[in-house]
Amino acid sequence: MCLFCKIAKKEIPSKVLFEEEDLLAFHDINPMAPIHVLVIPKQHIVGLGEAVAENAEVLGKLLVASRRVAEETGLVQSGFRVVVNNGPHAGQSVFHLHVHVLGGRPLAWPPG
Ligand code: AMP
Ligand code: ZN
Repeated sequence: MCLFCKIAKKEIPSKVLFEEEDLLAFHDINPMAPIHVLVIPKQHIVGLGEAVAENAEVLGKLLVASRRVAEETGLVQSGFRVVVNNGPHAGQSVFHLHVHVLGGRPLAWPPG
């Protein structure tokens, strides 16, 4: 079964920031910034490229939860970036939809 489904079901431990009915926010195991949190739906969706209209509610909740991550980690004033990697060129490595929330240092643009 999928790694992030196992994390969502607590079958694999993670450093949880918060949990809501439909989603989980936890710290990335290999952080790319001082704050690097992943927000995942508990429901298995492969990626943004596979999302459909029926997923609109949970997709909205992921963005609102991303804002909550920024709030709870103190990033609202300094700024933060929200990223969804999708497919080979974006380097998606886990095929369960996840939103990266990054901050705590100036972030370069454009991304590499
Ligand atoms: P992506 O490359 O966009 O698919 O992102 C996958 C992210 O999941 C990477 O930033 C990994 O460091 C992270 N990751 C992989 N396994 C775990 C894990 N067990 N707990 C937390 N984060 C993980
Ligand atoms: Zn999954």
